[in-house]
Amino acid sequence: MIDTHAHLDFSEFDPDRAAVFAAMAAVGVTGAIIPGVSPSHWDKQLAVAAEFDCYFALGIHPWHCPPVLEPAMSELEALVNRHLGNKRLVAIGECGLDKRHSQPWPLQVAYVQAQLDLAKRTDLPLILHVVKAHGEMLALLKASRPARGGVVHAFSAGPEVACEYIKLGFKLGVGGLVVNPNAKKLHKTLSEMPLDAFVLETDSPAMTPITSAVSRNDPTNLVQFVDEIAQIRKKTNVLISEQLQANARQLFDL
Ligand SMILES: [Zn+2]
Repeated sequence: MIDTHAHLDFSEFDPDRAAVFAAMAAVGVTGAIIPGVSPSHWDKQLAVAAEFDCYFALGIHPWHCPPVLEPAMSELEALVNRHLGNKRLVAIGECGLDKRHSQPWPLQVAYVQAQLDLAKRTDLPLILHVVKAHGEMLALLKASRPARGGVVHAFSAGPEVACEYIKLGFKLGVGGLVVNPNAKKLHKTLSEMPLDAFVLETDSPAMTPITSAVSRNDPTNLVQFVDEIAQIRKKTNVLISEQLQANARQLFDL
């Protein structure tokens, strides 16, 4: 299994990163995609991805947009172009819209639009972070029509919203929320949408599942997410992990 969204470059993993990768391997989590968050993080992100043989995405997270678009977007495009032949670069992101965050809305829109355009120019899929802004994001995607689609990470909405993204070529990232019995809309989406619409993720070190005894999330938790999805779909966990792994391979061309 591959964790399609894990910030294994974050400082929370500095004390024991090698041990985390060893624990992942022990439970069958053989790799991860490390998403980009901000220009100041890219160097460390690329170093960790190289050291631990991870895939990565390059982008600017809506929480971390520099106050003006330039030179940040030019730097991003130059870095992406430098890595276009690198098999580890698999997406643009994470980028998106977050109405719960205080970043000025016009700035968030400008950055996500610029990254939708970049994904098109570089023929890469997108990793999207969308909080309380599905209507606005869907409108941008309908106007922009990214050729390779992407994933809406940490998806929590119901089947109607899910369907709109799927029609645009997007998959839904499922993580720690799945083991929360109160995540009714997500559970409805998981039981009604086709299995090829989902990929697995943790968003480590954030989004710790309520079942966890420790505060830091890590990719070994994928195992329990698969068990939960298997119960919802009344399938074996082997079938679920194989299908969701195949989805990730297809989406990100792994
Ligand atoms: Zn993230």
